[in-house]
Amino acid sequence: MKKRIFSLLLALALLLAGCNLLPDAGARPRELSESSIWAMDTQMDLRLYGDTDGTVMTELTATLNRLDRTLSATAADSALTALNESGWTDDKDIVYLAANARRISEQTAGALDITLLPVSRLWGFPTDSCGVPAAGELEALRDNVGMDKLTLTDESVSVPAGTKLDFGALAKGYAADLCRARMEEAGVSGILALGGNIQTVGTKPDGSDWIIGVQDPNDTGRYILTLRLSGAKAVVSSGDYQRYFMQDGVRYCHILDPETLAPVRGSLRSVTVVAEEGLLADGLSTALYVLGREAGTELWRQRGDFEALWIEDDGSVWVTPGLKDRVAEGDFRVIEP
Ligand code: AMP
Ligand code: MG
Repeated sequence: MKKRIFSLLLALALLLAGCNLLPDAGARPRELSESSIWAMDTQMDLRLYGDTDGTVMTELTATLNRLDRTLSATAADSALTALNESGWTDDKDIVYLAANARRISEQTAGALDITLLPVSRLWGFPTDSCGVPAAGELEALRDNVGMDKLTLTDESVSVPAGTKLDFGALAKGYAADLCRARMEEAGVSGILALGGNIQTVGTKPDGSDWIIGVQDPNDTGRYILTLRLSGAKAVVSSGDYQRYFMQDGVRYCHILDPETLAPVRGSLRSVTVVAEEGLLADGLSTALYVLGREAGTELWRQRGDFEALWIEDDGSVWVTPGLKDRVAEGDFRVIEP
């Protein structure tokens, strides 16, 4: 478990290095404002350009804190906990997230499944006492799991007793979308690092590209590759190095395969999705991690509304052709179109 905590701290330090400490040549000091908060179980670093009186920063912070209070699966007084206890909610954020989770789940052969909360808990996530559960205990949860347990209307979400939802795979992407919309409305550009989710908005004051680092899962102290991106983009990574525990030499990560109810195992170390919409990028990154590189590549061929980057355990990096010319530094191979 120490390893997991260390990995989390390191990831945190890297995010700071990747987003807060990148040089911002071209920004006059009065144009730049920065803030760091802790919300949704992670460090969030906000860097805004042009928020001259600080109003937008205040609003974004309020939005992130609201989502934190609404979507916490652990807080006793969150709207999500109320849903998980009573089986019903009309909370607007939850209704929106549940509808989108179902859409992405349908598009990814069920790889995204927001009903896995009791299964995550049985494996010990997000506590410090993780471990491999008895097979019988896992199977006993199966009846409560599955996207078909959700009943959605335009205004409400209902689940049967025993089914409990977790928006950990999507919530930060959704938060980034809300922040981005407000920033665009106010004419403020910037870069938001919401845990592992990066959201760029508008252009930098000097017109240069945003530079985003993708962590090396084998050595989280370095970037395996950096991307040069322009405009508003969500860049979201999912991988086995973010939260995990080791038992008998095996790594068990926090992303679960809905078919096996066990942490995803395979050769894939991480997937990074680049898309216009944060919620989609976040949901897809988790789903693509479950699917593995081959099925993920097939999905990319069918869609065309996202780009992606896969890192395998042999250190190879695969990018979709749309990212080829966006790589600032790092070795990679290009996926066949
Ligand atoms: P992410 O870091 O965005 O890939 O999301 C991982 C988080 O989503 C985990 O910490 C769990 O809370 C939850 N989760 C794990 N496996 C899945 C899955 N297959 N589908 C949806 N959510 C999941
Ligand atoms: Mg995700």
